[in-house]
Amino acid sequence: MPDEPPPPPIQLHPHAARPGDDGIVRTPALDRSLRLATSEAKKFERLGLRTVRDLLEHYPRRVADPGTLTDLASLRIGDHVILIVDIASFTARTMRARRGSVVTIEVTDGQRRLPLVYFAPHPGRVAYLEARLRVGKRVTVDGVVNTKNGVLQLTHPKIADVDSDLSEEEIERRATFPQLRYGQTKGLESEKISALIRSQLASLSDADLPDPVPADVRRERGQVDHATALRTVHEPETMAGYRSAQEALRFEEAFVLQVAMARRRAEAAAVPATARPPRPGGIAQAFDARLPFTLTPGQVEVGTTIAQEIAGSVPMQRLLQGEVGSGKTVVALRAMLQVVDAGGQAALLAPTEVLAAQHERSIRALLGELGEAGMLGGADAATRVVLLTGSQTAAQRRRALGEAAGGSAGIVIGTHALLQEHVQFADLGLVVVDEQHRFGVEQRDALRAKGRAAPHLLVMTATPIPRTVAMTIFGDLEVSTLRDVPIGRAEVLTHLVPAGNAAWVARAWERVAEEVRQGRRAFVVCPRITATQAEAGESFVPQDAPGRDELGDGVLDLDGTGGTGGDPDQPPRELAAVEDVVELLRAEPALAGIAIGELHGRRSSEEKEAAMADLASGALGVLVATTVIEVGVDVPQASVMVILDADRFGLSQLHQLRGRIGRGSLPGVCLAVSPVPDDSPAHERLTVFAGTRDGFVLAEADLGQRREGDVLGAAQSGGSSSLRLLRVVADAAVIEAARGAARAVVERDPQLREHPALAEAIARALDPVAQEYLERT
Ligand code: ADP
Ligand code: MG
Repeated sequence: MPDEPPPPPIQLHPHAARPGDDGIVRTPALDRSLRLATSEAKKFERLGLRTVRDLLEHYPRRVADPGTLTDLASLRIGDHVILIVDIASFTARTMRARRGSVVTIEVTDGQRRLPLVYFAPHPGRVAYLEARLRVGKRVTVDGVVNTKNGVLQLTHPKIADVDSDLSEEEIERRATFPQLRYGQTKGLESEKISALIRSQLASLSDADLPDPVPADVRRERGQVDHATALRTVHEPETMAGYRSAQEALRFEEAFVLQVAMARRRAEAAAVPATARPPRPGGIAQAFDARLPFTLTPGQVEVGTTIAQEIAGSVPMQRLLQGEVGSGKTVVALRAMLQVVDAGGQAALLAPTEVLAAQHERSIRALLGELGEAGMLGGADAATRVVLLTGSQTAAQRRRALGEAAGGSAGIVIGTHALLQEHVQFADLGLVVVDEQHRFGVEQRDALRAKGRAAPHLLVMTATPIPRTVAMTIFGDLEVSTLRDVPIGRAEVLTHLVPAGNAAWVARAWERVAEEVRQGRRAFVVCPRITATQAEAGESFVPQDAPGRDELGDGVLDLDGTGGTGGDPDQPPRELAAVEDVVELLRAEPALAGIAIGELHGRRSSEEKEAAMADLASGALGVLVATTVIEVGVDVPQASVMVILDADRFGLSQLHQLRGRIGRGSLPGVCLAVSPVPDDSPAHERLTVFAGTRDGFVLAEADLGQRREGDVLGAAQSGGSSSLRLLRVVADAAVIEAARGAARAVVERDPQLREHPALAEAIARALDPVAQEYLERT
């Protein structure tokens, strides 16, 4: 059986793509290509800019208050000034002590002269500056006055060309405008991007730039409309104007998303569900009676909410979030049993085959005889649990399909295989989706469509999601949180191990051996499968990793970095790979006699299952793995985890990984090995990780460290986040306000008939197929 495909990333697209039937008029003025020469177009494409709209939504990355327009006669040390001057001379002097040259450019107002000083690390930089800064050229210079040997000068000021067609007054006026820096790429500087944006904006009328936000909402919030905001953001005359324009655009992003969510909610609520009230004396009660533990107060509370909702005919749409091990599965199972008691079926959708199989085992174990209807020893009030996955034999599948369609299986557990068309249910009453972050909304919908009435929906995630993120990604779901972890959960201590310290690393392996020799198990986590192959879905690139960002940042790129972050002389670090580490550990004297296995996304499902089973049984003492073990894997005897190159993982990911140990009563130890220096941001992140096991604290810290857009960006939204300005953590208030306004608009006009620009914005923001379509035209 071939390996199952990697789960698709979550999509930020509440509406399944329905190109064509949305009745939406596109805006040709914005959706056309940039009409540039091929070589130019290529450069813009490297920034993801293909259409006029892309270009207009390429907002400035940074905006600076300019200095005060000053003449050369009145310069004072320490002043932040803007000068309108001509280039008078250009000299480059090679340095003796270090590589590179000092470039001195003298500028003049016709009478006085002032030196501008730059350091150029290589001859190419000198040539570039000389070509850009020809003698006689008029420029604006922005910098802070300092002195050297008693002579006033500016060091590394920003220089911008002056449009020679402009009048003297206009040049002066513009010199005092806020300075914009756009994300740029090699061969395409901020200024050039700015110029193209301005010329495009000049050719568009306000009617070409309709506002998705209704005028009354704008008025209420004291905001300018879309066209004004767009023009102001790209051509601000004052900082205050820039800020309020940005605020209007930011609100717009939140508003469009929240309207989409509000509509989705309204749509889902419009199709009634079958009410599944609890049945006294049924299987749910029998299950509670045989639970080997007491439910936590949180489990009871959330359980009550869910029980009430599925007892009604408004389809439940609920997200259940809770720490790994907080007991979500038990809560979900109780809900499933209530549905079974009411004559319906429940489907549990897991992101991987390993997890589906694990769910099946643990649910069977929890149910005991209650899950063995029709079998010898089955209880009176009992149901059947079936597993349906892509890697089953034809016979197994046929049987499972039959039980799902015939209704004898009250609980059907599976992976994406459950979404296929030929999978039928007799009466699907509840869909439980585990680990939502691996599922797209479309899949959720596909499964829901299998019920005759709308099934109730419970989405579970172990990724702690701050409230505003939940509102943004899952705005259509009500959120319940299990905050407390069942008492008796073991302690897990985390230590940072510097990779460069051989003695500490050796000690880590000894520690692993000690644990395994006491009958426990160890995970060793690596960022890569082989030296050259990453794990599927590996997406986190730490912000402080070199080479993360190819966008430079200087109007003229005068600082000589060439726009690439990181140190080009530094070879990329070789990351720990499962296949190498397995070899290494098998040769490690401390681990002699301990069986070491491996697990990663390139292994078949059978191999994965076998590895997990061997680890559970003790046939394996150590499992070397990639992040495939991140989600849900449950081996209660696992007490130690070594995470190699720990700085390569995001905080939330580290947290998920660590959640694999300390799941039984055994105290755990997590050793995070990394070569990052003590004073680096990466080290700081690892210190936060070592300091707390509170997933919400880590999630907030994680999001706080990410750049705008990244939160819902490539990592989670499949690379097509429509958020440009909105920061889901920092902009909590904007999101809340937008949600209120959005719900009001949808209540008045659910079909958005009166709001065509809004309908269009939603379709565009949420519809990747349409997006592709637009990009092709
Ligand atoms: P989650 O799905 O949130 O990761 P699970 O439901 O799988 O958590 O629960 C983790 C473990 O804790 C399981 O072995 C489960 O049987 C156990 N468990 C759940 N609820 C309780 C409780 N209230 N008291 C003790 N153990 C519990
Ligand atoms: Mg679970």
